[in-house]
Amino acid sequence: MKPEVTVMWFRRDLRLHDNAALYHALRQPYPVIPLFVFDTNILNKLSNQHDARVNFIYDTIADMHVHLKKYNSGMYIHHGTPLQAFQQLAEKYTIKNVFTNSDYEQYAYERDKIIADYVTQLGAGFHSYKDHVIFDGSEVLKDDGAPYTVFTPYSRKWKALLRSFYIKSYPIKLQSTQLVHLHNTTIPTLASLGFLPSNMAIPPQKVDEVLIRHYDAQRNFPAVQGTSRLGLHLRFGTISIRQLAAKAQQLNDTFLNELIWRDFYHAILYHFPHVRAGKSFKLIYDQIEWLNDETAFEKWCMGKTGYPIVDAGMRELNTTGFMHNRVRMIVASFLTKHLLIDWRWGEAYFAEKLLDFDFAANNGGWQWAAGSGCDAAPYFRIFNPALQTEKFDKNLQYVRKWVPELDSFDYPAPIIQHEIARKRALEVYGKVLKNK
Ligand code: FAD
Repeated sequence: MKPEVTVMWFRRDLRLHDNAALYHALRQPYPVIPLFVFDTNILNKLSNQHDARVNFIYDTIADMHVHLKKYNSGMYIHHGTPLQAFQQLAEKYTIKNVFTNSDYEQYAYERDKIIADYVTQLGAGFHSYKDHVIFDGSEVLKDDGAPYTVFTPYSRKWKALLRSFYIKSYPIKLQSTQLVHLHNTTIPTLASLGFLPSNMAIPPQKVDEVLIRHYDAQRNFPAVQGTSRLGLHLRFGTISIRQLAAKAQQLNDTFLNELIWRDFYHAILYHFPHVRAGKSFKLIYDQIEWLNDETAFEKWCMGKTGYPIVDAGMRELNTTGFMHNRVRMIVASFLTKHLLIDWRWGEAYFAEKLLDFDFAANNGGWQWAAGSGCDAAPYFRIFNPALQTEKFDKNLQYVRKWVPELDSFDYPAPIIQHEIARKRALEVYGKVLKNK
């Protein structure tokens, strides 16, 4: 007789406290086996062996493993596909239930369907919980049941629906009797997963109340550490969105609004499968005749456009895996409007480089800048990098940090003059959109 177990499948919810699916898994009668899959469908696509995100996941899982050992358990790790992981588990155990937290990306939908079908065939239940957002796509709707596509009314409804219940932590008390005993299990090494250590610094998992209180005044200036840098922790669930939203509600409405943007973009993915599949939210934007000049793209990636604020941003990204939100907007606008390069090229580059990469927010940010998204900047509003610098980095503190050769002959001339680029963008965009 194989032991009967429940599987708690961790994905982007890497914590043992305030975790919706774990809370529910621990309330049913079968002992729980904590599973994490180093998913080769994802890992095989990464080009950098030193990927800091894989390192971060690895270290987090290792910490969870050590913690679970106190309860004679541990993390059950599989390196391969999720289906293989469940097949392997099914050889050793009778799986009664699978508990997991919902994940809203296209690949995740497909992956979860395969696993749900497989375990259903085995006679097990597949239970998925909301944990990654405060409200998922089905919860914040217009009065007629339609999804919102404009942020401000969405955020109003979001706030009207908010009750303390939604930001309350799930109380979790681990007990050895509720967990499958895995005390002799070790976890694989990072090298055996095909990765090597990264020397990129990971932002601390710290909710800085003083920073959040002053968020309004500080958040737009890239030279100042005025934003939380919690994106990575929200992405992988090492911080609970409920705990952060509860703090935001107490301390700063502007900060809360940013967390609502995060829910909003997840809701867009939920309601609009064509966005998940990589199309423009406003489909007509897919008719734009992008120039897609590879040399210009390379210069943008490397921070060599001759536009100091753009170059500073790209160099910050390449060096640290982070870029300030204001600068993300500037470089994204520059790529799509000044250089007329398809926003998907920039989206993919950010996906490769950002530690806090999140499909929903990244796609939302890129489509906002390109004009193709819901509630996006209109196509004829084109950021002027010089004016943006004047407003948000007046003393060039940020620019000089990343572009120290600014005043020397080594610094390249602008890749294109702003006025010429602006006219060209209006023409190319206008050809498709003028009469719409
Ligand atoms: P804070 O300002 O401290 O905000 C707190 C949290 O709120 C963030 O960590 C994030 O989870 C959320 N948040 C803030 N702004 C936004 C927003 N506009 N949309 C959605 N969520 C938001 N954010 C990502 O998390 N991942 C991405 O891949 C990503 N790509 C982006 C690409 C572009 C082109 C643009 C313009 C924005 C992108 N953003 C992305 C949104 C935003 O820039 C980052 O969330 C923010 O800069 C992260 O820094 P922080 O953690 O200090 O944010």
